[in-house]
Amino acid sequence: MEPLISIDKLRVIYNQGKPNETRALEETNLKIYPREYVIFFGPSGCGKSTLLYSIAGLQKPTYGDVTINGKAFSSMNKKEMLELHQTGIGMIFQAFYLIPSLSILDNICLPRAFRGERRGKREEAGLKTLERFSILDQGDKYPSQLSGGQKQRVAIARALINEPKIILADEPVGNLDSESARNVLQILKDLNEIDQQTIILVTHNPEHLAYADRVIYMRDGRIIKEEVNHEKRDIADVALDADPRTANPETKELSILMSSFKSLLPQQVNMLLVPYKAKQLLSHILSDLNEEQVSISETLIREVLFQNIQTQDLMERLDLSFDKGGGGWNRTRAENFSTRVSRILEQVEILKKTPEHAPPALADYIISQFRLDLNDTNKIRLKSFLSLRIESEINRAEMKKRLNQREKNGGIGLYSQTAEKISREVEIIMLLKYS
Ligand code: ADP
Ligand code: MG
Repeated sequence: MEPLISIDKLRVIYNQGKPNETRALEETNLKIYPREYVIFFGPSGCGKSTLLYSIAGLQKPTYGDVTINGKAFSSMNKKEMLELHQTGIGMIFQAFYLIPSLSILDNICLPRAFRGERRGKREEAGLKTLERFSILDQGDKYPSQLSGGQKQRVAIARALINEPKIILADEPVGNLDSESARNVLQILKDLNEIDQQTIILVTHNPEHLAYADRVIYMRDGRIIKEEVNHEKRDIADVALDADPRTANPETKELSILMSSFKSLLPQQVNMLLVPYKAKQLLSHILSDLNEEQVSISETLIREVLFQNIQTQDLMERLDLSFDKGGGGWNRTRAENFSTRVSRILEQVEILKKTPEHAPPALADYIISQFRLDLNDTNKIRLKSFLSLRIESEINRAEMKKRLNQREKNGGIGLYSQTAEKISREVEIIMLLKYS
C-alpha cells in the first residue's frame, strides 16, 4: 500500500545559528498509511509537536521534506498548501482556540466561512456536525458557557467540518478530567474505525497507547522505537471477517465476545482459552489483590476450569498460605470468592446443558446477585434481553443499553453502573460457556 504521509530525512532546528539554537528534530524518516491510528509518544520536549506541525505543514523543515498523497510540501504553492489546510487536514490542540464572541455553531462553521461558503449552506453542515457529536442543543451558546470536555468536542467538530482525511491531535485531552478525556478519545477512535480517517495523536500519557495501531516512541528529537499494536489489529481483522449477515453463528458469538474482551485473541480460542477465562474471571470478581496473589490464584482457578479440582477445594487452597502453595488469602475472602465462582459456574452449566432453561435461571440469578427489585414486566424484559444475548442477537453494549433504558422506552430503567455490572457478569458467563 502507498503511504499517505511520507516523512523523509526531516530535521527541524529552531533559531539556527543563534545562541539559543535548538535541534528539536534530528533526521527523521517515517511512513504513515491510510486509515492508520498512530500515536507519537514521549516525554515533554522530545519533539512530538514539532514533528506533528511539520506534518501539518505549519512548521517548515530545516532539512528534508514531507509528502502527503504523493505531493511533496516543497513542491506545493501557497494555494495548494491552503487547500491542504482547509480540507485535507484537521487539527485539534490542547487549547481549544474557540472564538469567545462567536456562538458554538458559528465557531464550528468557521472553516467554511473562510472558504467563502454562504451562511445557509455552511450552517446546514454545522448543524449536522453538532448532531453527530450530541451537542445540537448547544449551538446557540457561547464558549464560556461550556465545560472543558464540551469545548474540546466543539473544537473537534470544527476540525472535522470539512471532512479531512487526516486528523492531527496534539495532546487534545491534556487538560480534561478523565471522563471527558475518555469521551474525546472515544470520538477519535470512532473517527478512525467507523469513518476510516487517519489519526495521529500526540500524547505523553501511556494509558492512551492502547488506542493506536502503531506507537512511535520519541526521545531527544529522535524516534527510538516503534511498536505495532497487534492486539488491536487482530481484533479488527476478526471483526471484519464476522459480518453478521454472512457469519456463521459460531463466528458471530466469538466476534461479540471479542468486542467485550479486547485482549482475547483468535489464537487463544484454540489453545489458550481456559487460562484466559481464568484470568478474566479472577479480575472480574476482585481487583485489589497483589500480583503474587493474583498469579497463584489464577493457577488455582485454571485448575477449577480444567476440572482438576472442585470449587470446594478452591476455597481451601486460596485460604492456604503462600509457603504451602496456597493463595495466601484470608478465610472470609476465600469463602466469599469460592461461593461467587461456584454460583457463576452453576449458571454456565445450565447454559451448557439445558440452554432452554437458561434465560429464567440466569434472570433469577441476576436478580438475587444484584439485589434487584423488579416488577413483573421488568422480569419478563430481563429474561428476554438475556435470551437475546445468549443467542448472540445482541452484544454487551446493547445489553447494557436496554438494562439502562427507561421503562417507557422498553428498558428496565436500571442505573447505568448497575447495568454495566450486570452486562459484564453476563459476558463472563458467556465467555466461560464458550468452548
Ligand atoms: P514536545 O511536543 O515533545 O513536548 P516540542 O516539539 O514542542 O516537544 O519541542 C522540542 C524542542 O524544541 C524543545 O526543546 C522545545 O523547547 C523546542 N521548541 C519547540 N518549539 C520551539 C520554538 N518555536 N522555538 C524554539 N524552540 C522550540
Ligand atoms: Mg508538545
